[in-house]
Amino acid sequence: MKFLDRLLGRKEASPAEAEVAEPDCPHVALVPFWDSAEDIGVHEKISRYECESCKAAFTREQGEQIRVEGAERLRLSEKDRRDRLAE
Ligand SMILES: [Zn+2]
Repeated sequence: MKFLDRLLGRKEASPAEAEVAEPDCPHVALVPFWDSAEDIGVHEKISRYECESCKAAFTREQGEQIRVEGAERLRLSEKDRRDRLAE
């Protein structure tokens, strides 16, 4: 039994890997990038996004999704706050 305990204990004691793989950044500061100068400003031609705070790069699809999720989260917390203020 001692042997088993030690095996299980060791398994639980190494959460370091997950932390490295997923930095705790909400990616709220996504900046769009364009491949060619003449496309700059054209939403459909955005080639990628980069997060200003952690410098992570995303494809347009990923960036859009993160932005939508972020806006959703913001709206929810806004609503939450207003609900609490109203009480
Ligand atoms: Zn980030």
